[in-house]
Amino acid sequence: MRAIQYLGIGDVAATEVERPTVAAGHVLLRVTAAGVCQTDIHFRASGEQMIPGGIVLGHEIAGIIAECAPDVQGFVVGDQVIVHPVWSCGACRQCIAGRENACLNTGGRMFPAATPGVSIDGGLADFVTVPVSALVPADGLDPAFAAVLPDAGLVPYHSINAAKDQLRPGSAAVVIGIGGLGQFAVELLRAMTGATIIALDIKDEALAAVKDRVDHVFRSDDRDVASKVTDSAGGHGADFVLDLVGNNATLKLASSIVAPYGAIRVPGLSDGVFEFETSQTSTSLPWGVSLTRPYSGTHQDLHELVALARTGRINVNLERYTFENALRAFDDLEAGKITGRAVVVME
Ligand SMILES: [Zn+2]
Ligand SMILES: [Zn+2]
Repeated sequence: MRAIQYLGIGDVAATEVERPTVAAGHVLLRVTAAGVCQTDIHFRASGEQMIPGGIVLGHEIAGIIAECAPDVQGFVVGDQVIVHPVWSCGACRQCIAGRENACLNTGGRMFPAATPGVSIDGGLADFVTVPVSALVPADGLDPAFAAVLPDAGLVPYHSINAAKDQLRPGSAAVVIGIGGLGQFAVELLRAMTGATIIALDIKDEALAAVKDRVDHVFRSDDRDVASKVTDSAGGHGADFVLDLVGNNATLKLASSIVAPYGAIRVPGLSDGVFEFETSQTSTSLPWGVSLTRPYSGTHQDLHELVALARTGRINVNLERYTFENALRAFDDLEAGKITGRAVVVME
């Protein structure tokens, strides 16, 4: 079958590999669409080998079940599904509590559960095998849109859903970084909260894509951005700041616009460092602020996100590529040419 493989440092290629066979508890999916993420670009661009050589990339997967292992229950051949990218055990204390992204048996203290396209073969291929516990029904959704829900949609959903206490009507929410995840974040904030929504990015085109969907847009590299945001948020700052970039500049910006008892959530992975200062006269963070680095989302989050997607209220830009052009999607994403999410639609 056709696949996009990470072969080693700097080397991602379209190849032919053996079609995988189903193990107990697994299904074989015929992939209908698979998203391309900044994480994939990061793997290709890195001078270090961050994932196993030979792995099939693709952690955003939509497909149709082509084969089920004999012990599989609850799904049948022909079902349209998407894949939760956290392949957890389903049995440990954390999984039972609905925190599969902190699974005790398949992850470690500093690394998460198995992830397709990262630590095990993923979905940028004609077929992929998936544990039945990771499947979420997605019938009726456009496969290209469904494919990007498990990462571009799930990451902001998880952060927003877990900060419901901060996101009451009258509150203000800031999204830093309006790429694929940022567009989802804006749509989810609109659909799930009554918050004032403020979008920040260093690119005018990125802001233009959401200008009509939010209350305010500002360039994040504007010298006066912090005062513009706090003014727009009612003077005390934003109750919720979603930093989808996570570099030094955005972390500093987040801390300079967050309100007392606000939530800073940083799914962005751009090697930023934040200094946590505890003096009585600290100027780094207002009192009561919480700062976390959330990982992916829970199985329940993804079910809820699919339900929300089915209402038709989520509008994000998708840049569609054929499998033959999949590597061009990598190049375009790396060159900053994509406003929204790149997705490979299998023909
Ligand atoms: Zn990703
Ligand atoms: Zn577990």
